[in-house]
Amino acid sequence: MASSPVLLLTSLSADDEAAWLHALRSAMPDEVVETDPDRPAVEIAIVANPPPGGLRGLPALKWVHSLWAGVDGLLKDPTVPDVPVLRLVDPTMAQAMAETVAAAVLGLHREFDVYGAQQRAGLWSARPFRFARDRAVTILGLGEMGRASAALLKAVGFDVRGWSRSGATIEGVRTFAGADGFLQAVRGAEILVNLLPLTPETEGVLCAKTFEALAGGACVVNFGRGGHVAESDLVDALNSGRLRHAVLDVFRTEPPPAGHPFWSHPGVTILPHVAAPTDMSSASAVVAVAVATYRMTGVAPEGLDRRRGY
Ligand code: NAP
Repeated sequence: MASSPVLLLTSLSADDEAAWLHALRSAMPDEVVETDPDRPAVEIAIVANPPPGGLRGLPALKWVHSLWAGVDGLLKDPTVPDVPVLRLVDPTMAQAMAETVAAAVLGLHREFDVYGAQQRAGLWSARPFRFARDRAVTILGLGEMGRASAALLKAVGFDVRGWSRSGATIEGVRTFAGADGFLQAVRGAEILVNLLPLTPETEGVLCAKTFEALAGGACVVNFGRGGHVAESDLVDALNSGRLRHAVLDVFRTEPPPAGHPFWSHPGVTILPHVAAPTDMSSASAVVAVAVATYRMTGVAPEGLDRRRGY
């Protein structure tokens, strides 16, 4: 039997929290996973949208594992103790993301949005055909999500470029690094896919200046975070025709409030944060490996770089 209980801390609905508890207990049958354990004994906390301040009062806490891939919300809470914080890295999630990116990019490439508008206007008219190899697609962020997406888009045949902080090597993909490489990465792209983490450096990256660098009538896919979009710049660029269409899965407020211009804009496709959902059973298995390793070694796993913000 494990020496200390594992805390599950969420602000999810009671049903969702119960489902997570069940999945985590199934993945770690030797552990005691509780939502209300003996707090002084807790060494490991597993969190999903924990309430602000919820990680206070855990004197024995050694590390925290998020059940989400993005931890920008968690890192905003100044009361999160100074212990390693891990985000979810689950290959099944990267595969899901790559599929959704490919669906969005192929739909834009074959102009399904244009045909949808034509249908609503009762218009039967073929657009000129283009091959994927003639379509430049740029991916911002070449981490877990970006690399899998770049590889799948490359396999489909697109002319793929990618941008990251430190540079990455992906076969057949032209990659660019750092602030200096940004314009080279985005200039002339016809479809821009954002898969960056939300940090002070990346907030608002999808702004008028970026849209200006793209090809005229380009499309934008934002599957990163809502804070990456300068919303009024996006609406202006769509209204002026600078951009043709935006597929958005993430928003500053989710769902966007009633009356928000995105809801009714013909140039916007709204997805309800479904690009790469967390799979409870594979996520629980990932967490279980980290917990088992800690129990064996007594060494807390390496957390993410808090100063970098991702
Ligand atoms: P990740 O593995 O941490 O990768 C982040 C990538 O962004 C890395 O390539 C990193 O560069 C790059 N980057 C970070 N800051 C940068 C900067 N200032 N300039 C240039 N490049 C920068 O993250 P991930 O797991 O792929 O997740 C990516 C995004 O997807 C996150 O926003 C996450 O919240 C979102 N997400 C959304 C969903 C959904 O359903 N919509 C699901 C999962 C994840 P380096 O390689 O040099 O570090």
